[in-house]
Amino acid sequence: MTESPFDSYLAMVERVGALLRYDESTVGPLRAPKRSIIVSIPIEMDNGQVEVFTGYRVQYDTIRGPAKGGIRYHPAVTLDEVKALAAWMSVKCAVVDIPFGGAKGGVAVDPARLSLRELERLTRRYVAEIFDIIGPDRDIPAPDVGTNPQVMAWVMDTISMKRGYVEPGTVTGKPVPLGGSRGREEATARGLLYTVQAALRVPGLSLEGARVAIQGYGNVGGHAARLLHDGGARIIAVSDVRGGIHDPRGLDPQALHRHLGTTGSVVGFPGAAPITNADLLTLECDILVPAALEQQITEENADRVRARLIAEGANGPTTPDADAILRERGIFIIPDILCNAGGVVVSYFEWVQDRYGYFWKEEEVQARLAEKMQQAFDDVLTVANQHQVDMRTAAYAMGVSRIAEARRLRGLYG
Ligand code: NAD
Repeated sequence: MTESPFDSYLAMVERVGALLRYDESTVGPLRAPKRSIIVSIPIEMDNGQVEVFTGYRVQYDTIRGPAKGGIRYHPAVTLDEVKALAAWMSVKCAVVDIPFGGAKGGVAVDPARLSLRELERLTRRYVAEIFDIIGPDRDIPAPDVGTNPQVMAWVMDTISMKRGYVEPGTVTGKPVPLGGSRGREEATARGLLYTVQAALRVPGLSLEGARVAIQGYGNVGGHAARLLHDGGARIIAVSDVRGGIHDPRGLDPQALHRHLGTTGSVVGFPGAAPITNADLLTLECDILVPAALEQQITEENADRVRARLIAEGANGPTTPDADAILRERGIFIIPDILCNAGGVVVSYFEWVQDRYGYFWKEEEVQARLAEKMQQAFDDVLTVANQHQVDMRTAAYAMGVSRIAEARRLRGLYG
């Protein structure tokens, strides 16, 4: 049976708790979020009617620094999902060793159904509801599924207007003219590229000619397609919520980008055959990049996955049952909390730049990101070899041990 995303997190905590021989006083505090809030968001729609949406913000912990995590707008958002995403953020920030705890927010809404003005009203009202617990030293939101730099600009503006002064460091993933960082928009995909290259280097392989299938063609999947293509890989299939396309000769991400711009979907790209999201996951390829939502690789399809390497761009795309099957089959997985950490790393750089009021060139951002991702990959691989465990278990062991150490030093009061 497929567990909930939060159950998957808890299962990993129990596994690494046993591996690291932690007692209950260490594992206990990892099992529940520090703070969860549910808010009601009434807004006036363009037709004059009032609709009421439900929003969430979960701060999983602030042991290693202010809480940090994106805001998701998606119809399937639930408290359980936001809790899991917040917990994953907490471990992820520790894996890449940046001074943040974990958080996540979300609103159960289909943003594609809203006009721009409705989206702005929804964002401002949601932010007003969580205002008291947000700030550069408290909790710093960022984009996630269904949100983008424009939404972050409204978040920053709402908070700045309520505080009475401009506070750029209160949110990351903002447009560059408002204090955003160069390189933030593609940072998650760039981090993914660096971890894929690091993973391929271990057995002495390279990206050249590697066949790649990508599920989800948004911020993470779209940029990953371009960067992996530029790195020499062949993108043989991509998909979005409306379906997928397949071309074994390789898709041209630039032409695809233009097609997406005019039609709103990858579907119907000239010269490519249609493929379903389900079939894409079991396509014969070298690298599979799930970059959409949680729980896509399950016990139902894990034994049919034919990739040699899985790079988890999405958060939680693999269920624990599927993970066990893939492990057994010897498929190398770069786990989400390592693979997609490039986004939060550059969000950290953005926060640092905002606090200094001094901004870096894109090359500097990329160089620092490359260094962070390589270090995190090497740290996790070392733990994996030390304990003879897979990369996911090693990444959790790395992250959880850093959180546990900080808690031990601060004490339970923190
Ligand atoms: P996005 O909204 O930009 O893109 C999501 C993509 O997934 C779109 O192409 C959408 O059509 C597609 N999609 C949605 N539902 C789908 C479904 N049921 N089946 C197939 N495709 C579907 O979101 P994003 O920011 O690219 O985030 C994608 C994943 O990456 C999420 O799991 C997110 O949590 C994770 N992530 C994002 C960032 C970031 O910086 N944006 C950082 C780390 C992790």
